[in-house]
Amino acid sequence: MSAVVAIVGRPNVGKSTLFNRLVGKRRAIESSVPGTTRDRLYDKTLLDDYEVLLVDTGGLELGKEGDTIEASVQEQSQIAIDGADVILFVVDVREDPTAEDFHAATLLRKSKKPVLLVANKCDNPRFEEQRYNLYELGFGEPSPVTALHSFGMEELESRVGDELKEMGFEKNTVYEKPREDRIRIAFLGRPNVGKSTMVNGLFGKKMVVVSEIPGTTRDATEIDFEYKDSKFTLVDTAGIRRRGKVEPGIEKYSILRTMQSVDEADVCVLMLSFDEGITNQDCHVSQYILEQKKGLLLVVNKMDLVDPKKRDQAEHMYVHRLKTKMSYLPWAPVVFASALERRNIFQVLELSAEISEERRKEIPKKDLKVWLQLALDKHPPNMARGKHRFTVLGVEQVATEPPTFVFLCNWPEVMHFSYGRYLENGLRENFGFVGTAMKLIFRKPESSGAKHRKDEAEEIVLTDDFEGENLELDSDEEDTDTDAKDVEDFMDEEQ
Ligand code: GDP
Ligand code: GDP
Repeated sequence: MSAVVAIVGRPNVGKSTLFNRLVGKRRAIESSVPGTTRDRLYDKTLLDDYEVLLVDTGGLELGKEGDTIEASVQEQSQIAIDGADVILFVVDVREDPTAEDFHAATLLRKSKKPVLLVANKCDNPRFEEQRYNLYELGFGEPSPVTALHSFGMEELESRVGDELKEMGFEKNTVYEKPREDRIRIAFLGRPNVGKSTMVNGLFGKKMVVVSEIPGTTRDATEIDFEYKDSKFTLVDTAGIRRRGKVEPGIEKYSILRTMQSVDEADVCVLMLSFDEGITNQDCHVSQYILEQKKGLLLVVNKMDLVDPKKRDQAEHMYVHRLKTKMSYLPWAPVVFASALERRNIFQVLELSAEISEERRKEIPKKDLKVWLQLALDKHPPNMARGKHRFTVLGVEQVATEPPTFVFLCNWPEVMHFSYGRYLENGLRENFGFVGTAMKLIFRKPESSGAKHRKDEAEEIVLTDDFEGENLELDSDEEDTDTDAKDVEDFMDEEQ
């Protein structure tokens, strides 16, 4: 299991710069306008040889308009406290600690999580001295770093490593599937959508619990079980079980915890509740699943709340809504269920098994060749580089889980993403891959011998572009679907 390390701090102290340093890529263009530097909020990386999900909470807060710095620091701290194993609390060494710094310090201290104080912007020795002012924050010795110039990173990494070691994490725990034939499944969704009810319903009968492996770290456990001919491992049962002991609604939706479960699963079951609609958080999680190239099944629960006479119509309406709100996931199957009445719940396992099969499917080379020729003939690419026309020379499946295809082409960098989408849709139409994300890589043939120009990309990976999609993580109240009124029209009045 990878550890979660969260970066917290008030705006402009250099969180996103530090994030980019630690993930080793300079993806974001730093700027002096607070909150404008980030293009990525989380990434997997190795810190001191520990596999870590690094999270820039400064981006997760995605300030609501009119928010004070204090409120955003509070929100970030809460996200970190809810789901992080280690917290990096970043301050600007060039200034004395501010009221917001003290506010964050108080919140973080209460969490009892390991907090490493990071004194950023130690650009010159004078500032390095100044970091002793930061002792006031009460986290001991601050680590001096200059995120901008990569100074102090090794020491910081090794401090993180020490904390993780103490917590029982092991080095190089890069996730490997222990048993090839098992389907790793995770039930995800906001509190109260019915995850525990669903899992209890599934385990009530028919299921054989083979073993329960207590996690080595935290309270995480995995459960192996079998259904029909498929072997499953249910990951992250802790999140589901623990909730039973807590008053409904108290446990906050832990976005970090959810992301970690996604990482550990092959097939993600994202549960929605019919009466609550689709929220921005649901979209955010589904996008993360897509980026991580996992399998995905959407379950709309609590269908018993709908008047049976109106069910078809209600389902139709909901599918339409999914198409609008999650338009980037046309391939994800949808199951309408009632965990309470145990209706359609086993369909969830059957479909998950099918999705897992799809993820492992290999398409013969000759079938791909025939398909590609037809696809190119039907819609020849019309991109060009100067006098050179863009062409696709061949395609090959190079991996499964996720299904990964390499398209050999003459000028990968001129390929328009809409053409990539066309090819992906074509692959899906012809070969299936229902319920799983896939990866398409466009690159030059290795043997092309042609010298690359400086500005030429060797390889382009088709990305999922969510620009314009609504990614805010609002507070729970504001986050509910605004057109929940349509839902009310379907609700069984007798309920
Ligand atoms: P965030 O709002 O906390 O994520 O801060 P950013 O990472 O966006 O950085 C804010 C500003 O501080 C940017 O202009 C960065 O270039 C700058 N910055 C970040 N790290 C350093 C550093 O180590 N030294 C100096 N001098 N500036 C830095
Ligand atoms: P979790 O937080 O996602 O694990 O949700 P729970 O399984 O604890 O369910 C939250 C509440 O929703 C409980 O009161 C359940 O009884 C109720 N619930 C769960 N599934 C259904 C369902 O299919 N129909 C109805 N009407 N209520 C449900």
